[in-house]
Amino acid sequence: MAKPLIELRDVPVTELKKLQTKSAAAKVPGLASELGIETVLDLLLHYPRRYIDRTKQVAMQDLTVGEEATVLGTVRKVDTRRTRQRRAMVVVELSDGAGYLRCTFFNQPWRAKQLSAGTETVVFGRVESFQGRKQMTNPVVDVVGGSRTGRVIPIYPQSEKARINTYDLDEWVAEALRRVTDFDDPVPTSVLDRLELTSRDWAMRHIHQPDSMDEVGAARKRLVFDELLRIQLVLVRRKRTYERTSTGIQHEVGGELVRRFHEQLPFPLTAAQRRAIAEIEADLAKPVPMHRLLQGDVGSGKTIVAVSAMLAAVQGGHQGALMAPTEVLAEQHGFGIRRMLEGFTVPSGGGSLFADRALTVALLTNRTAAKERARILEGLGSGEVDIVIGTHALIEDKVAFRSLGVAVIDEQHRFGVEQRAALRSKGELVPDVLVMTATPIPRTAAMTVYGDLDVSVLDELPPGRTPVATVWAKGPLEVAEAWQRVRDEVAAGRQAYVVTPLIEESEKLEVASAEETFAALSAGELQGLRLGLLHGKVKSAEKESVMDAFRAGALDVLVATTVIEVGVDVPNATVMVIVDADRFGIAQLHQLRGRVGRGADESWCYLLGEGATSDAERRLLAIAGSTDGFALAEEDLEIRGEGTLMATRQKGRSDLKLASLRRDKAVVATAREIAFELVDGGLEQHPRLVAEIDVLLPEEEAETEYLFKS
Ligand code: ADP
Ligand code: MG
Repeated sequence: MAKPLIELRDVPVTELKKLQTKSAAAKVPGLASELGIETVLDLLLHYPRRYIDRTKQVAMQDLTVGEEATVLGTVRKVDTRRTRQRRAMVVVELSDGAGYLRCTFFNQPWRAKQLSAGTETVVFGRVESFQGRKQMTNPVVDVVGGSRTGRVIPIYPQSEKARINTYDLDEWVAEALRRVTDFDDPVPTSVLDRLELTSRDWAMRHIHQPDSMDEVGAARKRLVFDELLRIQLVLVRRKRTYERTSTGIQHEVGGELVRRFHEQLPFPLTAAQRRAIAEIEADLAKPVPMHRLLQGDVGSGKTIVAVSAMLAAVQGGHQGALMAPTEVLAEQHGFGIRRMLEGFTVPSGGGSLFADRALTVALLTNRTAAKERARILEGLGSGEVDIVIGTHALIEDKVAFRSLGVAVIDEQHRFGVEQRAALRSKGELVPDVLVMTATPIPRTAAMTVYGDLDVSVLDELPPGRTPVATVWAKGPLEVAEAWQRVRDEVAAGRQAYVVTPLIEESEKLEVASAEETFAALSAGELQGLRLGLLHGKVKSAEKESVMDAFRAGALDVLVATTVIEVGVDVPNATVMVIVDADRFGIAQLHQLRGRVGRGADESWCYLLGEGATSDAERRLLAIAGSTDGFALAEEDLEIRGEGTLMATRQKGRSDLKLASLRRDKAVVATAREIAFELVDGGLEQHPRLVAEIDVLLPEEEAETEYLFKS
């Protein structure tokens, strides 16, 4: 009978005969501690890292000096010597029958034992010429052993520390594959046929023991699909469960308030804004609470979309709340939104007997004075406050709404899941939630990281913006130009930001470096200009007065750490200089740069720094080369890989062993479609698939917020 893969999780590797010999048994602890392999399932999911295709091997006699190469050979002779500095030197003579290659290892005395005569091994390194003969120094070594005679040799991730090499793993995997006669396939055949995927049994066997690289490709395609399908099934199932189990407010959309708001804006909405608002209104009109992510680059106009959503709630007698991650941002939103809604009235209820009353927007942060705070809390309870804008202060226990209809969370990446849940629990019914982020992530990555949310995208900037001219100031001439630009722009009545080095390890050092930069610029390059300083240790009252002064134009230059990263909006600022820009990530640089170019005037961003590593160089070139947040996000993913991306939200997602969100973009989308089909068609019809995701991807505790009901 076919064996479900997950049942092998209950079979310890010690059941394998090959691991019962004395020498192999000694490796069992290392197998667990170094490679994380305890069960036969772990072993089978320990896929080869790469393959050596024997049919494509370069013969040793054809190796080119100066180039890197991978070659396969048999050890003919081993010799251990000492250098004049008394270092161990192991010289190994390899042969592939026709040619020879000498490998020299320094300070690796154990190589002599590992590479004893007769051992078959693969080496990778740069080919050198030594005394007229080809050699490699300290090449990467993969001992393949003599047991595999196939044309393609799998190379497994191995552990030198635990003395487990790819040859051992090959042998153990082979026994496991021999003993499982047939792997059960939990994916419906109709799906496999449609996507032209092989059976799981075939794929498991051929990923480990292929006869050609084409077979590796086909096996990989199937197993990648399985990994991505499992993730999508979890996300889609969670989304549907949430929709089924929570009751929200059916808002009346298309009301007077939203229409009037749009009419009195000094500009027309962009097509992207109109589309996002329509998507949101469709959600609001449904009895199921909205759970939507709004992705939009800096300056794409997310605030207008957020206000439109909150006004739809207010129209029906409910309230809106907007939560920002910092006081500066909350205050700025409070200030801006109040101005946008000045003179707006809401029906006071009770029919035409009562006159309309003014729409009330309140600001609640930790700086709100006690008396004012008490008044706001009362207003929220009675319903007199229609819209409240604030920081974390909004989710304190004392805050109770009469009827919270729409909750907006700005700059989502700064908030945890728990805080979102807390805000949501503020309503009688579950309020509609809109999460906004200015950190674009590629579409397929979004499907994985935010796969349980619906996503709207503002992929268009309002017209009339000139892209920020970005210069990587590598040399002293360009650096001088940067400071000259600051002085010129200030002379023309504009303002500038100087961002001081990011020092992740220590806030104290970061503050010190900000103070240093400030002092140096005040006395040097920017002498005579009015400079302000902001960093994490500046007291809030002072921070506020510095920000106010900068907004009012009483300061020319704001020298600051990344506290200005999100949302600060001073359209008169036209230059930004980022010191040690090579320390920042792409997303962060893009966010920072978004602080300029907010008005109609031409703006500049100067990146100071050397690009000491090749990744740093790629980052700086990317930022200098593009102002498109989505394109930059793709590039960022290319440079960093998906590991970091996944870690931002889903800690336990270690299921991606073969799949890559970069390489397998198309499969992510397909897997998501299939997941919707299967979940909506009744997942209970696929119990083996359910068992598999429950075992391989157990729901994390923190994620239970989606089941929240008030
Ligand atoms: P972000 O998406 O970065 O939060 P904001 O909502 O702060 O962007 O908007 C950035 C600026 O663009 C604001 O000054 C806003 O008034 C302006 N803006 C928003 N929508 C439009 C539009 N459709 N046309 C012109 N300007 C707009
Ligand atoms: Mg914003």
